[in-house]
Amino acid sequence: NESELNQLAQKLPEWLEASRSVTSQGRPASYIPELGHAPADALGITVMDGSGRVVTSGDCGLRFTMQSISKVFTLILALMDRGEEGVFQKVGMEPTGDDFNSMLKLELVEPGKPFNPLINAGAIAVSSLIHGVTPAEKTERILAFFRELADDASLTYNEAVYRSESSTAHRNRSLAYFLKDNQVLTEADEVEEILDVYFKHCSIEVTCRHVARMALVLAMNGTDPLTGRTLIPRRYVQIAKTFMVSCGMYNASGEFAIRVGLPAKSGVSGGIMTLVPGRYGIGVIGPALNDKGNSIAGVHLLQSLSVHFDWSMF
Ligand code: GLU
Repeated sequence: NESELNQLAQKLPEWLEASRSVTSQGRPASYIPELGHAPADALGITVMDGSGRVVTSGDCGLRFTMQSISKVFTLILALMDRGEEGVFQKVGMEPTGDDFNSMLKLELVEPGKPFNPLINAGAIAVSSLIHGVTPAEKTERILAFFRELADDASLTYNEAVYRSESSTAHRNRSLAYFLKDNQVLTEADEVEEILDVYFKHCSIEVTCRHVARMALVLAMNGTDPLTGRTLIPRRYVQIAKTFMVSCGMYNASGEFAIRVGLPAKSGVSGGIMTLVPGRYGIGVIGPALNDKGNSIAGVHLLQSLSVHFDWSMF
């Protein structure tokens, strides 16, 4: 392990620059206007091992919003609040094969019930399950949980990105109203309040180090190896990692499982969270996205690492 990390430290700059060259084939998301300002040729990575040793390269200091990466942890918090049964009453366990914000399958099988918790409709339903009387209380609990996992009490959401999304999210609004019409959001759930919780957790601002630190807890099945504290029950980490494999990389989850072979979640800001079970937490940022919505250079880099070190779980 020690020698692998040393080798990684030595080779990473070269691999990173090779991957950076593909950024020109992608571009940052702009449907949330504020995300369009991200540096298109940026690429950064942080790898953290179980003793807290860190290897970084490139633009690892770049701040970005978690976007869909946050859905992994709101799912876990909802599981901790409501149990498996409570969560799976509202969302399914299957990939859709459709876009992350699609409405296509919402009327199939069980009307209104999103196929999984990582598509937007599913994550909005999950936001409604977080304990808290007011939306502010739900958001505070999410922030407190993320701060603990990231080991940074100053973690918070980016106001400009939050506003930018909230003021343009017509599609997410329509998804949420559809959930309400089908009683997936209940009488008590005010649509705008649930959306507010959702937009805020998507806007939580991090660096690759935070993402790597949070992923490390997942890599260690819920126990923070640096403090020895169990932050998440093992079973819920297992559920989250399974969704990461089946749905974490949008409609390229199958390809990512074949080429990289690690549980991962990406977000439209160009972040990717992944992990090597029992060994590393990894955070990547590369705002230029490919046609599937994943960081084009981030996927390229993770593939180089996984192939070189034989990291595939399969
Ligand atoms: N906040 C984003 C949205 O709802 C998250 C999407 C993503 O990262 O996939 O559109």
